[in-house]
Amino acid sequence: MQEKQRSRFLRVRCSDCENEQLVYSHVSSVVRCKVCGKTLAVPRGGKAEIKVMILEEME
Ligand SMILES: [Zn+2]
Repeated sequence: MQEKQRSRFLRVRCSDCENEQLVYSHVSSVVRCKVCGKTLAVPRGGKAEIKVMILEEME
């Protein structure tokens, strides 16, 4: 099973300003909210650790 290795886009909602934004599931740098600058995702060994609510996973 390669499930955990697959990369995808995640639609997340910022918990501070409710902005919705797409975040890649494998990031190499911190992803911030485009509106308020809150940290949405941080890299953890190649895979993103998402810090806010994930609304949807997209292939
Ligand atoms: Zn925000």
